[in-house]
Amino acid sequence: MTETTPGIVIMGAAGRMGRMLVQAVCDSDQARLAGAVVREGHDWVGQDVGHAMGGPAMGVIATSDPLEAMARAQGVIDFTTPETTLEIAHLAAQARAVHVIGTTGFTDAQIEKLVPASRHCTQIRAGNMSLGVNLLTGLTGMVAAALDEGWDIEVVEAHHNQKADAPSGTALMLGEAAAKARGVTLSQVADRGRDGITGARTEGHIGFSAIRGGDIVGEHDVIFAGKGERIVLRHMATDRMIFARGALRAVLWGQGRPPGQHDMIDVLGLGR
Ligand code: NAD
Repeated sequence: MTETTPGIVIMGAAGRMGRMLVQAVCDSDQARLAGAVVREGHDWVGQDVGHAMGGPAMGVIATSDPLEAMARAQGVIDFTTPETTLEIAHLAAQARAVHVIGTTGFTDAQIEKLVPASRHCTQIRAGNMSLGVNLLTGLTGMVAAALDEGWDIEVVEAHHNQKADAPSGTALMLGEAAAKARGVTLSQVADRGRDGITGARTEGHIGFSAIRGGDIVGEHDVIFAGKGERIVLRHMATDRMIFARGALRAVLWGQGRPPGQHDMIDVLGLGR
């Protein structure tokens, strides 16, 4: 590590993804942990993060003050809640720090509110930071473009029983890719949360179903159901570390880039 090694702050460090991110940054020789932010009143506040995680000291004291943590940082990785991410976007813009957003569950209005901050810093947001899912997104677009609307598209996702939002950010990302390939707007064709007497399926719609249970890390199927045949594209995540590694790659990729908004397709160089 050198003096130019970027310092990275982990927002929501005590969360499921936060702990993975702290570990991923500490294990990397290309980044250093510059701060770990937890909620006000959390019992990690004032403790060394390594000790709080039950391991050796990491030399970084957990704080509930993101402003203080970001004063020393070149990047912030944020897997928290939409409300927190909107606050952090402003701080990242002020600090000119690369803001990697893994948080999901934004409304369209909240996504719009991220735009002003991205005029001052590099913002990288993806509903899923894994290489496999981003490849799946590309494949979904290719298949959707090759098939006509006679093929019904359904996105089925499964996650652990603590997940707050549905459909998952990844499911929506896959739906967006399919909608874009068909030249339609997802919000106008999405069927979410069917229940009761729904009537026949509308041709051209994209359906979403969510399964919640146990400790499922994340599974996504994109089903193209035609007459007499079916194509199923599937991704299964078995280890959350794939998202943390992707986020770390993103925050390093963003160093020295001009302000603007990007996603993992840009980071991974998968093209469009
Ligand atoms: P989690 O609830 O375990 O962790 C979130 C953490 O953020 C919590 O510890 C919470 O206290 C903390 N937090 C929230 N607001 C805060 C604030 N103002 N200050 C400090 N800490 C704050 O949830 P999780 O499973 O880690 O997921 C977090 C988010 O990341 C969710 O939106 C989830 O869908 C998303 N996610 C994205 C990907 C991806 O690849 N993009 C992968 C996994 C999870």
